[in-house]
Amino acid sequence: MDKETRKQIEQDLDNELTKMLSVVTVDKFHSFLTDRGLIRGLTCRMCGSDDIGVPLMSFLGGTPFLNYSKVDGGGPPHSLYNYEYRLPCNNCGFVHSFAVYPVLKWIEEQEGNGAKSDR
Ligand SMILES: [Zn+2]
Repeated sequence: MDKETRKQIEQDLDNELTKMLSVVTVDKFHSFLTDRGLIRGLTCRMCGSDDIGVPLMSFLGGTPFLNYSKVDGGGPPHSLYNYEYRLPCNNCGFVHSFAVYPVLKWIEEQEGNGAKSDR
Protein backbone atom coordinates (compact mmCIF):
# COMPACT_ATOMS: atom_id res chain seq x y z
CA MET A 1 0.00 0.00 0.00
CA ASP A 2 1.46 3.38 -0.94
CA LYS A 3 1.57 6.36 1.36
CA GLU A 4 -1.28 8.21 -0.34
CA THR A 5 -3.63 5.25 -0.15
CA ARG A 6 -2.84 4.73 3.49
CA LYS A 7 -3.46 8.40 4.20
CA GLN A 8 -6.80 8.21 2.41
CA ILE A 9 -7.85 5.17 4.42
CA GLU A 10 -6.85 6.90 7.66
CA GLN A 11 -8.90 9.92 6.62
CA ASP A 12 -11.93 7.77 5.79
CA LEU A 13 -11.71 6.00 9.12
CA ASP A 14 -11.51 9.33 10.92
CA ASN A 15 -14.56 10.64 9.08
CA GLU A 16 -16.48 7.45 9.74
CA LEU A 17 -15.68 7.63 13.43
CA THR A 18 -16.63 11.29 13.71
CA LYS A 19 -19.92 10.56 11.97
CA MET A 20 -20.61 7.73 14.39
CA LEU A 21 -19.76 9.82 17.44
CA SER A 22 -21.76 12.82 16.29
CA VAL A 23 -24.98 11.16 17.53
CA VAL A 24 -23.85 11.66 21.13
CA THR A 25 -25.57 14.92 22.09
CA VAL A 26 -25.67 16.30 25.64
CA ASP A 27 -29.27 15.16 26.05
CA LYS A 28 -28.51 11.62 24.99
CA PHE A 29 -25.43 11.49 27.19
CA HIS A 30 -27.48 12.58 30.20
CA SER A 31 -30.17 10.01 29.37
CA PHE A 32 -27.45 7.38 29.25
CA LEU A 33 -26.10 8.43 32.66
CA THR A 34 -29.58 8.45 34.18
CA ASP A 35 -30.35 5.06 32.71
CA ARG A 36 -27.11 3.71 34.20
CA GLY A 37 -27.98 4.92 37.68
CA LEU A 38 -26.47 8.39 37.91
CA ILE A 39 -29.82 9.80 38.93
CA ARG A 40 -28.32 12.93 40.48
CA GLY A 41 -26.46 13.73 37.31
CA LEU A 42 -22.76 14.39 37.14
CA THR A 43 -21.03 15.28 40.36
CA CYS A 44 -17.32 15.56 40.92
CA ARG A 45 -15.68 12.46 42.38
CA MET A 46 -13.22 14.63 44.27
CA CYS A 47 -14.98 17.73 45.59
CA GLY A 48 -18.66 16.87 45.08
CA SER A 49 -19.35 19.90 42.91
CA ASP A 50 -22.00 19.51 40.24
CA ASP A 51 -20.29 22.05 38.01
CA ILE A 52 -18.88 19.60 35.50
CA GLY A 53 -17.90 20.83 32.07
CA VAL A 54 -19.14 18.91 29.05
CA PRO A 55 -17.03 20.05 26.10
CA LEU A 56 -18.90 20.03 22.81
CA MET A 57 -17.99 20.23 19.19
CA SER A 58 -20.09 20.61 16.06
CA PHE A 59 -19.84 20.92 12.34
CA LEU A 60 -21.20 23.99 10.59
CA GLY A 61 -24.92 24.13 11.26
CA GLY A 62 -24.95 20.72 12.87
CA THR A 63 -26.19 19.66 16.29
CA PRO A 64 -23.40 19.96 18.87
CA PHE A 65 -22.12 16.66 20.20
CA LEU A 66 -19.71 15.64 22.92
CA ASN A 67 -16.13 16.38 22.14
CA TYR A 68 -14.03 13.24 22.44
CA SER A 69 -10.37 12.65 23.10
CA LYS A 70 -8.14 10.03 21.66
CA VAL A 71 -5.99 8.03 24.03
CA ASP A 72 -3.29 5.59 23.10
CA GLY A 73 -4.67 2.29 24.26
CA GLY A 74 -2.07 0.32 22.34
CA GLY A 75 -4.62 -1.51 20.20
CA PRO A 76 -5.70 -0.70 16.64
CA PRO A 77 -5.53 3.10 16.28
CA HIS A 78 -9.15 3.47 15.20
CA SER A 79 -10.61 1.16 17.77
CA LEU A 80 -13.44 2.77 19.73
CA TYR A 81 -11.64 1.73 22.88
CA ASN A 82 -9.10 4.44 22.16
CA TYR A 83 -11.68 7.18 22.51
CA GLU A 84 -13.08 8.75 25.63
CA TYR A 85 -15.00 11.72 26.92
CA ARG A 86 -13.09 13.97 29.28
CA LEU A 87 -15.28 16.00 31.59
CA PRO A 88 -13.40 18.41 33.83
CA CYS A 89 -14.76 19.64 37.15
CA ASN A 90 -14.97 23.41 36.90
CA ASN A 91 -14.40 23.73 40.63
CA CYS A 92 -11.34 21.60 41.43
CA GLY A 93 -10.14 20.59 37.98
CA PHE A 94 -10.43 16.85 38.41
CA VAL A 95 -11.00 15.26 35.02
CA HIS A 96 -13.60 12.50 34.74
CA SER A 97 -13.28 10.29 31.75
CA PHE A 98 -15.91 8.03 30.22
CA ALA A 99 -15.27 5.41 27.59
CA VAL A 100 -17.06 6.21 24.35
CA TYR A 101 -18.03 2.64 23.60
CA PRO A 102 -20.78 1.97 26.21
CA VAL A 103 -22.41 5.33 25.49
CA LEU A 104 -22.50 4.73 21.76
CA LYS A 105 -23.75 1.19 22.21
CA TRP A 106 -26.55 2.37 24.51
CA ILE A 107 -27.67 5.03 22.03
CA GLU A 108 -27.64 2.54 19.17
CA GLU A 109 -29.78 0.16 21.21
CA GLN A 110 -32.26 2.92 22.07
CA GLU A 111 -32.55 4.15 18.52
CA GLY A 112 -32.70 0.64 17.13
CA ASN A 113 -35.70 -0.06 19.37
CA GLY A 114 -37.31 3.24 18.44
CA ALA A 115 -36.98 2.57 14.74
CA LYS A 116 -38.59 -0.84 15.11
CA SER A 117 -41.65 0.42 16.99
CA ASP A 118 -42.22 3.06 14.33
CA ARG A 119 -42.88 0.41 11.73
ZN1 LIG B 1 -14.24 18.82 41.66
